[in-house]
Amino acid sequence: MYKLPTDQDGFFSEAHLKLRPVDFANSGIFLCGLAHMPKFADEAIAQAKAAASRACTVLSQKQMYVGGAVAEVDGTKCAICLTCVRTCPYGVPRVNEEEGVIVIDAAACQGCGNCATACPRGAIEVGHSKDDQFIAKICALY
Ligand code: SF4
Ligand code: SF4
Repeated sequence: MYKLPTDQDGFFSEAHLKLRPVDFANSGIFLCGLAHMPKFADEAIAQAKAAASRACTVLSQKQMYVGGAVAEVDGTKCAICLTCVRTCPYGVPRVNEEEGVIVIDAAACQGCGNCATACPRGAIEVGHSKDDQFIAKICALY
């Protein structure tokens, strides 16, 4: 459901063994205990405390700021083909059924650009990497 990575035995995999041991690559989701791998109770408890601490860094903030490199959908071009929904490795694009458009939550988007590349209608642009910005860069080179 969350598109989280698992190892060959079906246990969840952390984002980085040493640098992000209780984080997933998807922001806001944390890992501990037997979901990670078989381990002793004291190890599971220590990891659970670490995961709770990481969650508190999010929950303790009244307001969160995100970077500008996030995807944005032009609803006038979107054909609701769901390619972006299938392509996003973080499961961010979703259908707003009331308005019949794709919406991308800027707080969840990681700015990888997969959806913008895959969109057959060119309806998605990522901040700081928009088409006109790239064209301007290329024109400046030649
Ligand atoms: S890939 Fe493009 S056209 Fe298809 S649903 Fe996503 S934004 Fe719309
Ligand atoms: S830029 Fe990457 S993380 Fe953001 S919605 Fe597109 S595919 Fe998902």
